[in-house]
Amino acid sequence: MQKFEDSIKVPFHREYHFDMENGYIYDVIKNRNTSADGYYTDLAEKFLKNKFGYSEVFMTTSCTHALEMAVLLLDIKQGDEVIMPSFNFPSAANAVVLRGAMPVFAEINPLTMNISPQDFKRNITKKTKAVIVMHYAGIACDMDKIMEIASEKGIYVIEDAAQGADAKYKGRYLGGIGDIGCLSFHGTKNHIAGEAGAIILKNKNDEWKNKIEIIRQKGTNRNDMLRGSISKYEWVDKGSSYCPSELLMAMLCAQLENKDVIRKKRKEIFEIYSKGMESIKNKNEYCNIDYIMIPEGSDSNYHIFYILTKTEHDRELIQKKLESKGIQAFFHFSSLHSSPMGKKLGYKNEDLSLTESMSKRLLRLPLYTGLSIEQANYVINTLEEIITEMR
Ligand SMILES: *Cc1c(COP(=O)(O)O)cnc(C)c1O
Repeated sequence: MQKFEDSIKVPFHREYHFDMENGYIYDVIKNRNTSADGYYTDLAEKFLKNKFGYSEVFMTTSCTHALEMAVLLLDIKQGDEVIMPSFNFPSAANAVVLRGAMPVFAEINPLTMNISPQDFKRNITKKTKAVIVMHYAGIACDMDKIMEIASEKGIYVIEDAAQGADAKYKGRYLGGIGDIGCLSFHGTKNHIAGEAGAIILKNKNDEWKNKIEIIRQKGTNRNDMLRGSISKYEWVDKGSSYCPSELLMAMLCAQLENKDVIRKKRKEIFEIYSKGMESIKNKNEYCNIDYIMIPEGSDSNYHIFYILTKTEHDRELIQKKLESKGIQAFFHFSSLHSSPMGKKLGYKNEDLSLTESMSKRLLRLPLYTGLSIEQANYVINTLEEIITEMR
């Protein structure tokens, strides 16, 4: 094991932490206030509102939980359908299935790997309650089209912006465009707080705000008591324990305060990779490998850099060759419709052929805040050697 670790020159991911986090976390312990909804939770919520322009923000234990809360808020239940891409992490689908409703999988736009607005529209039925769009790699979905279709048909839009914190679409921060937005601050994301997330409401809506507070506080009206409007709290509706510890919120505040450092470092690496790929393609006329593109109107947070090979076999070959040079490159989501759970829901592999094919050809290069320029150059130069040898 140790030997293998030693041979890794560029790991796929390493958490990046700031010295400031130590002081904030120590502050929480010193004040003996490690449970939820203290100073740092409040600070994180305010930060997200002020810097990202969100109306209402509630910190959560994860993005997965934020998605569960969104589905609870919309009272989605058995007999309802929720459209989402099949090229996805299972969280959105779980949130729907846990309430006894049906996830309906839509195809992707091959240029972004995000949900195809046309296929979203095609899948709408009388049972459709919501669409959960996911901004893959920190690159925005075609939100204008999606919002237009949804409002025409009276469907709620939930944004799974787990990978989209600090990324924008036409000047607006992701997570604040749909009716509800969900963010992740998991250890693998851009802003790290172990296991944490947030739920965002686009509009100031007292009914929804009140309902979210109850869902988040184990189905109780504890927040009313904290505000002094009632003297004791009680069980009033469905809910669970969705409030993150102050220790994690302290870590998150320090990470958020450094968001521009995080973005700048990731952008540098991303640009080394994309310029490198452009030059590889120019030099090798027959190179049939594509790579991530940032479309017009989208402002990325540089969460992921991926390449798309022509065949699944090519992807495996490149991954193995990179690994032999000490570089970890990983696949990403296997499509949900063809997963064992997707099969249980009645889907067949051939139902979404584009997703099926593309998910088998995507390979992510190492990209994290602490990756050095030397490491990034080593990755792209090695990749160039491999691609040149392949033809
Ligand atoms: C990471 C991720 C999640 C899960 O986030 P958690 O905060 O770990 O629950 C959900 N959806 C997508 C698209 C993700 O990338």
